[in-house]
Amino acid sequence: ATPTAIMVGTSLGAKRGVLFKNAMALEASASIRTVVMDKTGTLTRGEPEVTDLVTAPGTDEVRLLQLVAAVERESEHPLADAVVRYAEAQSSGTTGGTQQFENVPGQGAVAVVDGRRIAVGNRRLAEQEGADLGELASAREELAATGRTVVIACIDGRAAGLIGIADAPRETSADAVAELHALGVEVVMLTGDNRATAERIAQRLGIDTVIAEVLPRDKAARIAELQRDGRKVAMVGDGVNDAPALAQADLGIAIGAGTDVAIETADLVLMRSDPLDVPTALRIGRGTLRKMR
Ligand code: ADP
Ligand code: MG
Repeated sequence: ATPTAIMVGTSLGAKRGVLFKNAMALEASASIRTVVMDKTGTLTRGEPEVTDLVTAPGTDEVRLLQLVAAVERESEHPLADAVVRYAEAQSSGTTGGTQQFENVPGQGAVAVVDGRRIAVGNRRLAEQEGADLGELASAREELAATGRTVVIACIDGRAAGLIGIADAPRETSADAVAELHALGVEVVMLTGDNRATAERIAQRLGIDTVIAEVLPRDKAARIAELQRDGRKVAMVGDGVNDAPALAQADLGIAIGAGTDVAIETADLVLMRSDPLDVPTALRIGRGTLRKMR
């Protein structure tokens, strides 16, 4: 009966674009107790857009955008794309040139532009630059409280401005969380973004546990912690950064619209990139296992 049940489960999944890579993936999906979901590109659309620009007193908006865009043009991060598009839409113009570009994984990017050191990224990066948010601190809190990702721009170690970026939740994310809860499964959000931003979005989606401000290299270790008492954990992700966590999980689930690395590493691929297909996959797994007993 075993091979037949597996064939039935696999083809049932395939009809919905839920691609189990092998029999073990199907079996693992039956015993999942915790589903960890990456925020950006999994729970959200992964189409970030700049909504706010706040400058420190004495900083010119157009000049700041020029400098920031000069750094972000060299970065491949989705947030960088959003910043560059915004700068171009404001026709902020270009600079003399970008030198010594450095990508800081999970934090941002740094470069020298027109002889000035420009750092663009999260609070951790700003702190490393020795920057004090000063008058920008309250604006940062307000933006994060609305679920915006807040990028800090530093010029020569001084916080010069904030960029608020919105990435809307996917339409079915909240329903997917509700269905997982109905299946008795705990849902956890895992993200490199800051805590206040992540918590606001989690609250909107009905997610109770948030693991935020995690560096890409630490994501797999956070999955291992959740597995400690033998709990079976699934991880859903889309990015290059997510691959080690997908490999660590008992069931790695890649969003079909994700990167090749994520898709290759995963045990299960959701072709429609629909979070609702996560509970669907777990139900198929449970149904298959029942038939095997
Ligand atoms: P996620 O977990 O959402 O995939 P990342 O680990 O890629 O996030 O990045 C974590 C945080 O680092 C982002 O929320 C952002 O604040 C900052 N960051 C990373 N790369 C950049 C960049 N190129 N420009 C601005 N901010 C960045
Ligand atoms: Mg990501």
